[in-house]
Amino acid sequence: MPFPLLAHQAPVFPLMLRYRGRVSGAALVLGSIVPDLEHLWLTGTGFGLHTAWGQFALCLPLTLVLLVTFRRIVMPAMITCTPSWARSRFVEPIRAPRLSWQRESACALFGSISHALLDAMAHRDGWFTLHLPLLRAPVLLGRLGSVPVCRIFHYAFSVLGSAFAALCLGQLLRRATRAPTGSPSSAWQSTQASPCVLTSYWVAPIVIATLVGARRFPDILAHPHLYFEFGPVYVWGFVLFSQLVYLAVALTLASAILPLAVRNSTGSKVPAP
Ligand SMILES: [Zn+2]
Repeated sequence: MPFPLLAHQAPVFPLMLRYRGRVSGAALVLGSIVPDLEHLWLTGTGFGLHTAWGQFALCLPLTLVLLVTFRRIVMPAMITCTPSWARSRFVEPIRAPRLSWQRESACALFGSISHALLDAMAHRDGWFTLHLPLLRAPVLLGRLGSVPVCRIFHYAFSVLGSAFAALCLGQLLRRATRAPTGSPSSAWQSTQASPCVLTSYWVAPIVIATLVGARRFPDILAHPHLYFEFGPVYVWGFVLFSQLVYLAVALTLASAILPLAVRNSTGSKVPAP
């Protein structure tokens, strides 16, 4: 898909709605994003994260590492550094309650395999595209000329899948904010970072990620063939995606050093998840 977020979550959000508490939403969502991490280098050929063997040998362990990092380091810090009015709306819904490792592994695999299967039908060099002539059949689209079916599927699913995923996400957030008072999450609301620490926690990673991301622009301008090969929507979609990945890395680093900052400024500890 031109942008790895939302469209690739279309297959996993319905599971989170249907089997709430029985599936790991964080593992499903992380798994559905992980294969595209290999595209952070625009000119690279990939590391196998979209292949069948890569789902088990690369995507699964990578997703589980990210899941543990998210649960142990990022989530407690985000809760401490989010104003109480926003916690129940935006942070607590993405908490990752612990399930058995088999179930979390299955969710991680479902996410990454659904991603690889969609791409295998949407990419020109995808497995299904190469093996099913129907996906390579040209369709005449007015001024756009002849476009293969796989490309039409690519953009159609990006739009329709994203719209469907957005509806599901809205539903998930609505359900999460209706969580009964007294649930385990309410215990986390007792600790709040000072305004200075809270502001630094969010602003510093945004500034750092923006500066790091700006390095990509000369890189893209130096490879104009990417526009013709993939199209501007695709290229800038991945620029935005890489920007979000840089932000996630910067937030993780900020979360790792937060306990020290909070202890120094308030004397309180970051709550355990
Ligand atoms: Zn992909």
